[in-house]
Amino acid sequence: MKPSHIEHIGIAVPNLDEAIRYWEDVMGLECYNIEEVVDQKVKTAFFKIGEVKIELLEPTSPESTIAKFIENNGGKGGMHHIAFAVENTDQALADAEAKGIRLIDKTSRGGAEGLKIGFLHPKSTFAVLTELCSK
Ligand code: ZN
Repeated sequence: MKPSHIEHIGIAVPNLDEAIRYWEDVMGLECYNIEEVVDQKVKTAFFKIGEVKIELLEPTSPESTIAKFIENNGGKGGMHHIAFAVENTDQALADAEAKGIRLIDKTSRGGAEGLKIGFLHPKSTFAVLTELCSK
């Protein structure tokens, strides 16, 4: 695999509206998309900085992995994952697995913005939760 760029940085937040206000009022960026990803039990909000996006993630259920992440972070949330744009998510996952990397997703699934996404396990990536995504 050879990612073309960082697609987005995922940030877990306990309250999406409050976080959006910060990113708009202080950082001066415009939220251009709010989308619920039912499958992952999250509501997402997106901002663009050049080619890179910021993805805010608010849990919609206590069972969401984002809810657990926030709980483990003293209820505050924080930096959650980095997403890399690849040509083909399934191929990139297979390539990583062939190199001994532990996967969270064996095959891609549908993410926000219609992307095909898959995660590498942080145990294999020096503790950085790594998302791969393609169109
Ligand atoms: Zn993401």
